[in-house]
Amino acid sequence: MNIVLMGLPGAGKGTQAEKIVDQFQIPHISTGDMFRSAIKEGTKMGLEAKSYMDQGLLVPDEVVIGIVNERLGKDDCNKGFLLDGFPRTVAQAEALDLLLEKLNKDIDAVVYIEVDQNSLMQRLTGRRICRDCGATYHVIYNPPKVEGTCDKCGGELYQRDDDKEETVATRLEVNLKQVEPLLSYYQKKEVLQSIDGNQDINKVFESVEKILRGLA
Ligand code: AMP
Repeated sequence: MNIVLMGLPGAGKGTQAEKIVDQFQIPHISTGDMFRSAIKEGTKMGLEAKSYMDQGLLVPDEVVIGIVNERLGKDDCNKGFLLDGFPRTVAQAEALDLLLEKLNKDIDAVVYIEVDQNSLMQRLTGRRICRDCGATYHVIYNPPKVEGTCDKCGGELYQRDDDKEETVATRLEVNLKQVEPLLSYYQKKEVLQSIDGNQDINKVFESVEKILRGLA
């Protein structure tokens, strides 16, 4: 099962991705997570990505395409994969098509989680993430039992630099501009499935699950 998960920042891609990989046992390929790991490790690519991410801008296509290329070639992707946060531009979508063609694979579905913009702003600025296990929380909608501490592993919760209010507006604007042409691209290929992401997390997952079970 080869899936692309799409949605503007804050639409709940990460949360749904966690549930999907758990249920369907496919690797989760998040370009944002890959960049954050590279930054943590202090690699050259991480440093380059950071300069864009800190401003809420997109990392250049060639850098992103390079890391996805490498990742999709790994053996664990033979049983399927969930792409989260990639592609974000039509150029990336075209590069992905070429790459999949070489690997003799197809995209089975592109799931777009649709959420209105005011909610996105609120969701992003209130988001907190565990430094140790990456679990996500929201200060209002999904708070941890103890403030600042992860329920799952006891790790410290932090706010991503690019979730700070001044960066979120730019991020939404940049991503909004890219998303429309990308949706048209996948609509034409008849793989696009949109779902209402304004509902609660479990309801959204029910919709996602229904689509994915329909593919099996
Ligand atoms: P995310 O965790 O998916 O919200 O990604 C965080 C940041 O990483 C984005 O704001 C971009 O700066 C960068 N990034 C992640 N995926 C991509 C992509 N496919 N193309 C360009 N930049 C990306």
